Amino acid sequence: MPQPFTRAQIEELVIDRSRPLVICDVDEVVVHFIEGFEAHLESNGYWLDFESFALNGNVRHRQTGESLPGELVSAQVMEFFAARTRHQPLIPGAVEALNSLSDHAEIVMLTNLPGEFRQERIENLMGHGLHHPVVVNSGPKGPAVRLLTETHAAPVVFIDDSPSYLASVYEHNPDCKLIHFLQDERLQKVVEPMPWLSLRTAHWPEAHAHVMELIGA
Ligand SMILES: [Mg+2]
Repeated sequence: MPQPFTRAQIEELVIDRSRPLVICDVDEVVVHFIEGFEAHLESNGYWLDFESFALNGNVRHRQTGESLPGELVSAQVMEFFAARTRHQPLIPGAVEALNSLSDHAEIVMLTNLPGEFRQERIENLMGHGLHHPVVVNSGPKGPAVRLLTETHAAPVVFIDDSPSYLASVYEHNPDCKLIHFLQDERLQKVVEPMPWLSLRTAHWPEAHAHVMELIGA
């Protein structure tokens, strides 16, 4: 089961269970996170290394090259979300793709974010022209997707940049089609392809066409 905070948001959702469902991440899929987080780190004397798909262990002191302990990385992430959630810039093509898909499917944004920034995330998305329901989660996404889809009769597609969240959804929801949206070229080099994905892409037009095919639209 997802955390109570996530569960409450899912139980409040009103979605048409007879239509296909597209569950879409936000950071690095719909809005840029890494570029802004790097600028935030830079202003504090740190930089982001791209040894692996993780923040922990990859935030380093500019002077010493030492990596920051986990609690300081978390503090940097919290500072970034507090300052920038309302203003994160759009990834090209996301709005056109999701709003076009909403003619054929229900859309739910499933985003991992500290709960106190939920309203700012909604306002950021609405400012970009995205009015789809937002569910804020913490931890693995598989349990949240399972709760979201357990009574869903039509096809389900999940889109995320995180290999671990994709793996979690794959484990808990074997029928769900998975799209790995990975648009940062530095991360593309360190993330191995996962054979159980339906698609790995860096571009929304390709993701859009693939979802249309998956949902038979
Ligand atoms: Mg993400």
